[in-house]
Parts: sequence; C-alpha cells; structure tokens
Amino acid sequence: MAKKYKGPAIGIDLGTTCSCVAVWNEQNNRAEIIHNEQGNKITPSFVAFSDDQRLIGDAAKNQAASNPANTIFDAKRLIGRKYSDSVIQNDLQLWPFKVIAGTEDNPVIVVNFKNEEKLFVAEEISSMILTKMKEIAEKFLESEVKDAVITVPAYFNDSQRKATKDAGVIAGLNVMRIINEPTAAAIAYGLQKRDNCVKERNIFIFDLGGGTFDVSLLTIKNNTFVVKATSGDTHLGGEDFDHRMVNHFVKEFKRKHKKDIIGNSRALRRLRTVCERAKRTLSFDTKASIEIDAISEGIDFSSSITRAKFDQLNKDLFQKCIDTVKSCLDDAKMVKDLVDDVVLVGGSSRIPKVKQLLQEFFNGKDLCMSINPDEAVAYGAAVQAALLSDDIKSVPNLVLRDVIPLSLGIMVKGDVMSVLIPRNSSIPIKTNHVFLTCVDDQSIVSVMVYEGERIIASENNLLGLVNLSVPLAPRGLPIQVSFAIDTDGILNVSVEEETSGNKKDITITKENGRLSTEEIERMIQEAESFKAQDMMFDKKVKAKNALDDYLYNMRKVMRDDSVTSMLTSIDKMKINSAMIKGKKLLDDKQQRETFVFVDFQREVERIFELALNKINKGYSDEESDSD
Ligand code: AMP
Repeated sequence: MAKKYKGPAIGIDLGTTCSCVAVWNEQNNRAEIIHNEQGNKITPSFVAFSDDQRLIGDAAKNQAASNPANTIFDAKRLIGRKYSDSVIQNDLQLWPFKVIAGTEDNPVIVVNFKNEEKLFVAEEISSMILTKMKEIAEKFLESEVKDAVITVPAYFNDSQRKATKDAGVIAGLNVMRIINEPTAAAIAYGLQKRDNCVKERNIFIFDLGGGTFDVSLLTIKNNTFVVKATSGDTHLGGEDFDHRMVNHFVKEFKRKHKKDIIGNSRALRRLRTVCERAKRTLSFDTKASIEIDAISEGIDFSSSITRAKFDQLNKDLFQKCIDTVKSCLDDAKMVKDLVDDVVLVGGSSRIPKVKQLLQEFFNGKDLCMSINPDEAVAYGAAVQAALLSDDIKSVPNLVLRDVIPLSLGIMVKGDVMSVLIPRNSSIPIKTNHVFLTCVDDQSIVSVMVYEGERIIASENNLLGLVNLSVPLAPRGLPIQVSFAIDTDGILNVSVEEETSGNKKDITITKENGRLSTEEIERMIQEAESFKAQDMMFDKKVKAKNALDDYLYNMRKVMRDDSVTSMLTSIDKMKINSAMIKGKKLLDDKQQRETFVFVDFQREVERIFELALNKINKGYSDEESDSD
C-alpha cells in the first residue's frame, strides 16, 4: 500500500466516557499510550463551559457536580443522530444539560458560556475533545500533529461515521482513516500477544465500553487481519449500568426520606458519580458503600449495594451482550468451538458477571485479559496511523480487511429494500445493479438510499436521495445504480441513465444528518477562536499566578524584622499599599486583561526592589527620603 502522509500520526480512541491517544514509537517498535497533563492515560470525554473559561477532560469532569447544566458529556451518543431518534429522546431525560431540536431535526446542545447562551452541535463538542487529545500528543511529541486515525464503534452507521470525521476536520486534523474499535483492539492483541500467527486463528473481540458495545470476529494469519462479522449496540455500556444503580438508589432515598430527587440535576449528578465508583468497587469486592453529604434539602445519604444486587439490576443488559455475541457468530456462520481467543476490551468488560456469562457461553474457555482494556483501541489506531504514514518505517506491514455493519440498498416499488451490499461485506467494495423504471414517461428517477436490515425500506435509516432526470420512455428504462464504500466505511452512490448519459452522484447533504461545507468551515473558525481564547485565558492565569507568587514572597520578606527595620517608613508604606492593592486586584471578580496583572507586577517589583536596593546600599532614612 502506498503511504501518503508525512510527520507524526496519532491514533485516537474517541470514547463515550473517556478518550485515549497513542503514537507509534520507532525506537521501541511499539505503540505508546500518551499521558495527559494529569499523568493519566485516559482523558474524560467531557467539555465544560463556565463564566470565564472552557474546560476539557479531567478539569471539566472534576467540576461537573457544581456546574451540571454546562458540563457536556455523551457527545458520542448524539453524534450523527436526529433529535427525534428514540435513543436521544430517552437520554434527554437523564442529561443535566439542555438539548433542543435544531434545523432539520439535528440535536443542538445549549449552554451558558461567559454569561451568554451558546449553541453547539455534537460534532463541535467531539472536536473539542479531539483537539485536547491532539494537544496531549503535541506536548509529548514536541511537534505539531496533523494526521490521525480515529476509531468508532463497529456498529456506527454511515452518518455517525461521517459526523465523527467532520469532528476531526473541525479539530484541525487530517483524518487519515476511521477504523472500527474492535478491529483496532484486534490489531493491538495480534501485535502484542500473537506475534507468530502462522496458522489461522479466530479471534473474538468483546468490547464493552462506557456507552457502546461492539463485538467482532476476526481471523488473523501472519499479518493479515480479516473481519468476518461484527455486531453490537451503540447504546449499551457502563453508563447504562450506572443508570440502573442510580435508579435503585433514587427509589431507596424516596422510600427512606419520602423525597424524590428526580429533577434535581445536581443531586443526580453527584449520585451518578458515586454509583460509578461503587460499580468499579464491585468488580473486585462483593459489596460497595456510597455516601453523599447533603444530597438534597440538607439530607445526608449513605447506603450500600452488593454485587448480587448490581447483577440483578443489570441482568437483562448483561444477557443482551451475550445475545449479541451469539448473533455475531451466527452471521459469520462459525460455531463457538472454533473461536481460538476471546479478547476482552473496554472498561466494562471488567465486570465479573459479564466475564462469567461470556466464559459460560464459550463453554468455560479462558478469556484473554492480557491486553489493557482501556488502551487497546488507541494502540491499534496508532498502529494503523503509522501504517498510513510516510515517515514511519518500523511498523509491521499489516493488512486489514474490515466489514460494513449494516446492509445498504435502495427503496424499490412497494417500499421494499433492495440490498446492494449485504452487511458484513468486506470493504472497500464497489457494486452496481441495474433497475428498471416502473412508470411510463417518467421524467425523473428518485433513488432513495437506506441502511438497515428491515425488508420494509422506510423502516430502515434513510441516508440520502438522488434525483436524476431521464428521457421520456415507456417503463422498463434501465437505470444503473452504483455503490462504492471506501476504507473508512463511507458510502458513495451514483445513478446513471446510459442513453442520455445523465449521471448523478449522491451529495452528502443535510438529509443524511451531515454538516454542510459552510457549516464545517464556520465551526473550524470557531474552534480556532476557542483556541485563541483558551490561550489568552491560560496567559491570564499565568500572569495572575505570577503576581500572587510575587506578593506571597513579598509578604514573607515583610514579616522579617531584620529587613523591615532597615526600610524607610515611606518605602514600608509604599510596599504595604502595593500589597493591599495587589490582593484586591487578585480577589476582584471583575474580568481584567492580562496586561493589567503584568503591568501591576512590574510596578510592585519596581517599588520593592528599589526599597531593597537602598538597604543593600546602606542608605539611611534621611538620605533616601531626600532622594
Ligand atoms: P471505555 O469506554 O472503554 O473507556 O470504558 C469506560 C467504562 O468502563 C465506564 O463506564 C467505566 O465506569 C467502566 N469501568 C472502568 N473500570 C471498571 C471496572 N473496574 N469495573 C466496572 N466498570 C468499569
């Protein structure tokens, strides 16, 4: 494969709850997971807006309980979906932030930023997280990063993939490829644990994360990875398990205190945080306690939950995971005994009951837990990025063949779905099919493109519409429809009538939930302006901190009698008044420009140093006063 890109290329696992970034390390011949500034290898996929700044990652998550309405998470659940989508409608009840229907039914997030109402689409929020991951990598690599491979759940549909790619573009990234999360995990597993797959091995990837669940069956032979089938649920994961526990405690609180905390977003947010922690505890302990001071109306809440209760609360969801495993094997027409390795990926795959059910399903087979479930996807994405990059020579030359998760077709007479590319077909792929017009003297042929498995076309997901002018003719005029899916899993459709030579390619328009070029352009500019604002904020914080440090040191010196006894009374007065003024300036809530703090510090430094210089030179009070 000819490589096209130069410079460092990174792999980003853009998760529902957490994200992770990795890069190929030429010296060590392995991908390296990059720490963020907190020293963590995973960064919360959170963005928060406050009166004076925008926060991303740990800083955003840490203030979520005190600023719930302006702290955005779950952008991945929104991306590429319509507002009226039942998934969004259900989630709306749980989110402490506001989401409204925008133009063409697109979900729009409403926040209060710098005391103004601001609207964002999910692509913009995701782009902010991607920007953060890019910056983490840039700090580590000490160079600018442009190229990235981004992962998506295997079960993401066409518009969710495109929207993720758009988010990358808004973040200023050149998205080299979108790859499926389980495929990325399989690469990580294949490279780290199965060095010499001379004989073909069947690998089953079970990826249960924060918001999505993906399974894939792949075969690995030498360095060739072929995805046989994939399945999953874009709305099943750790957050759903947290939610079940939250509901359990809401009921318990109501029973004990005769008070309902539903509708109290701050209380729910705090409860969700402790439930998530309790859930993690239950992965290694059989009981977990929760404790929240003054959860509502000053009432303290403490309770506990057993692992058995947690398993019971989530019984149907865990079972759903196993049913999905079964359907993936059915799709691949493979019996479970032929699976060589079952690999666990995603934070939620640590849940003991999930592991137990999976092991039972595979007749007691040992599960592979040797790769880090939080890092495997980013690791694989970094390998793929290195493979596509011109500069990197040491990466093993893998061959990847992925599949499409949903069937693609068009609506034909009687609202029937005519499938052109069946689900689980290997990509890239091209196909064409000739359809005949069904009405005499038709002047326009409308081709409606759908994805999904329903026989009734209109029950599937409408991706787009192509209208082609055709010459008047009796019915039966042949129309050629071609589908081409690229390596990102993104579809292009063209419709052609041969006698007239009329041809039309599908344009990616709003109908399929995509942003227009102008909108992306505007968002790129906004992202740039955010970056500038963030940098300005950073500068201001640094200037304020420097002034604070300087005043602190001054105060320390001024407590030293051996110094103050040598100062002239006028200098003492000048210094004290500068310290008071400085403290006032720092405590003042009024927004000020950076230069105010810088200039003030210069002024204080001048006063202080002048006074100290006089001591050093041994001036007397009289001498200095007449100075
Ligand atoms: P991921 O999207 O793969 O980063 O997974 C994040 C999800 O994994 C979150 O919902 C976490 O609460 C969950 N998680 C992380 N560690 C554990 C654990 N030890 N037990 C249960 N769930 C966990």
